[in-house]
Amino acid sequence: MNIEKTIENLEKRGFQVARFKTRQEAADYLVESIKGTTVGIGGSVTVEQLDVYDRLCENNTVFWQWRNHNPETIMSAAKARVYITSANAVAETGEIINIDGRGNRVASTLHDKDAVYIVIGTNKIEESFDAAMWRAKNVAAPKNAQRLKKKTPCAVKGDKCYDCNSPERICRGLVVLWKRMLGVSKIEVVIVEEDLGL
Ligand code: SF4
Repeated sequence: MNIEKTIENLEKRGFQVARFKTRQEAADYLVESIKGTTVGIGGSVTVEQLDVYDRLCENNTVFWQWRNHNPETIMSAAKARVYITSANAVAETGEIINIDGRGNRVASTLHDKDAVYIVIGTNKIEESFDAAMWRAKNVAAPKNAQRLKKKTPCAVKGDKCYDCNSPERICRGLVVLWKRMLGVSKIEVVIVEEDLGL
């Protein structure tokens, strides 16, 4: 895994990048950078591990369904000016990949935002676009299905995607960010040199 190459290619694609040694440093950076606005947070183990929700609430109005689970929170998070989430995988060639079931998490990275922060541990970085796609499908998605206790074949072992036809299938859409979306003023990838998320 080559962090320098990843950063160079992300920046070539119009993404901003911040890099930190620890999740604590990344959390401090987010708290310092985001003030006086509305913030939506996507379902993200990585963001949970940063432990920033309470600190962001001190200076912002924050909507996160993992703290307040109702449909209104999800709607408000989608309308927030700033959005924080992670990615299922990032390629060293600069593509950012997310698979989603409901769609609110990926939709909120695509338009009408002042800033989108995508926080990733270095475990999410893969050498090529194909390897990153493989990771999103065969590592992140099965682990997420396990976490959510879904009745899907991948959740039994968490080993790979079976391209299931389960009613509880969590993989219903795929978004690849090739470049900063025109409807988002800033997309910043926050790289933490630790293993984070699934
Ligand atoms: S498509 Fe089905 S089997 Fe594959 S990862 Fe998603 S939920 Fe699991």
